[in-house]
This record gives sequence, C-alpha cells and structure tokens, in this order.
Amino acid sequence: MAAREIIPGFYEVQGKYVDYFGYVRSYLVVDDDEVLVIDPGTAGSPGRKILDALKKLGLQPKKSVVGILCTHGHPDHVGGVSKLKRATNSPVMIHERDAELLEDPSRFINERLLLDFAGRFAMKMEKGPLRVNFRGVIPDKLVQDGDEIKVGSLSVKAIHTGGHSAGHCTFYEPFNKVLFSGDELNNFPNDPRRFYVDLSGSLPAKLNAIDRMESLEIEYLLPSHDTPYFFDDAKLQFSEVRDAVRQFQNHALENLKARGEVDIGQLVYDFRRLSSVPIPEVLEALLPTTILVALESLKKAGLVRVDQSGIWSSM
Ligand SMILES: [Zn+2]
Repeated sequence: MAAREIIPGFYEVQGKYVDYFGYVRSYLVVDDDEVLVIDPGTAGSPGRKILDALKKLGLQPKKSVVGILCTHGHPDHVGGVSKLKRATNSPVMIHERDAELLEDPSRFINERLLLDFAGRFAMKMEKGPLRVNFRGVIPDKLVQDGDEIKVGSLSVKAIHTGGHSAGHCTFYEPFNKVLFSGDELNNFPNDPRRFYVDLSGSLPAKLNAIDRMESLEIEYLLPSHDTPYFFDDAKLQFSEVRDAVRQFQNHALENLKARGEVDIGQLVYDFRRLSSVPIPEVLEALLPTTILVALESLKKAGLVRVDQSGIWSSM
C-alpha cells in the first residue's frame, strides 16, 4: 500500500517504522489531477514511496505535482526534497527562518542542537531519520504566515507557528477542515516529541501556536509522527500537548529550585531519572536542547539566571 486515503483527496504516505523513533508521515493533497506534497520525509522513506504513490493514483509526477511544501527544515521532513524536486520539477516551499536547513542540511547538527564534539560526530554518523547526508536545495518560494497555496480548487493556508523551530508552519485546508500540524503538534502516547524544540524554537511560541491551532475549526488533525485524529478526538489533542509543554517548563524550574545551582548536564540527568518516559536514543540531543530553550525563556521572564560558566539558578 503506497498511500492511504484518509478522506477523499487526502492521503498519507507512511515511512518505515524505525525503533525508538517511530514513523515519519508525508501527506498528499490531491484535487483536479493536481497534487501538493507536504513534507517528503527522508530520502528513502517515505521519499521514494511518494513517487510510487503518485503512480498508483494514476498521476504523472512531472505534470501533476504543483508544489513540495515543508512544515520545517528538520532532516526527517526535508530529506526527500532534493530527489522529489528532480523527479517532479515542482517548486519547493518553506518558511524563511528554516530555509537555511534546506539549503545546508548540516546546519541542523551544527546550529540547531545542543551538542558537544562527540555528540556532533555521532549525529554525523547517524543512520536514522535525522541523518543529514542529503543534498541541499534552494527553496523556490519562501512561505509566510497567511500565504495560500493552491492545489486544484483547494487552497492550503500557511500558519507560521515557530515553536518547534523558528520557521515551523502548520497548514490548514478550510474546505475539508484539515490541519497538517507537522511537529508542532504530535501526541503519540508518552512521546517526548510533544514538547521537543530545536535551538531556534521557543516553548512560549509553541503554547501560542497551540492556542492558535485550537481556535480553528478542525475535523481532521494530521501530525507528522502520530496517527491522524478525527472530529472530537482532534480537539482533545491540543490540551494534552499544552499540558505536556507546561509540565516540561515547570519540571525545569522546579528542578532548578531544588538543586540551587546546576548546569544543563545535571538537569538532563535529573530529567531522565524523574521522567517515566524513556528518551529515545535517536532523539537524545533534543532533551538538552529543549531544556536550554526552556531555561532561556524562563530567563527572559525573569525567573532564572545564568552565570558566565553556564551555571543556572532561580531568582
Ligand atoms: Zn522536527
């Protein structure tokens, strides 16, 4: 099965399951023989599967694909862009704050994660969905908040959310009331992806994004690493993810207060011990990264401070 139809004209192409990582899902919006691809995923999977899916749907890649739309620039979402662009000749679209990751994939490892030398080396050797061994692509169009991307008679609206990463967008199709939430909203049970952000991201922005998404009329919620949610079930996901983000923030603050003075390493250790959720190894770097981003926003709020040697304390 190359693609699964969720509702008429909306398909998911699921990547292979990777242990401790889960799935990556790409989506196709098909109307009047035109296709919009949302997040081609990694180069291999879904990547290649998207072309198979198009063929099975009787669509010609070079004629029918009107765009390749990226929710953000992380490797598990844009790894397949270069190949798909060559196969379809269609324009690649991403928000300007994440365009640099599409143009130069290694910036994900070098600039978006809190990693030491060994960690950076390990990520370079990484064979999983977060690998960056694919060709960079210059986007054809920079997506802005409020932009409408046409596919057949439908129009998909970009909502710049900027929580998970600075350039993250979600996409809303109002006629069928479908929201593609990318990595801004995943609620796979106990998955730390509910709160993960990269160094350009922000937890307050993520909370704002959740409010904004929740205010839309949504019947189908389609996340990147989670199952699709329908009708009332879709509405429930927002409050659960909001709680998880707040809990994470509180956790960081409470730990800091209890410890007095700590560096990030100690907080990571404490968080792992306290958390009943095992942190998947492939996502390892995202925990210290998210803790640092959380502390930075608590610092802005005047609740914590950091000295020159990287020791954090509460005010
Ligand atoms: Zn991501």
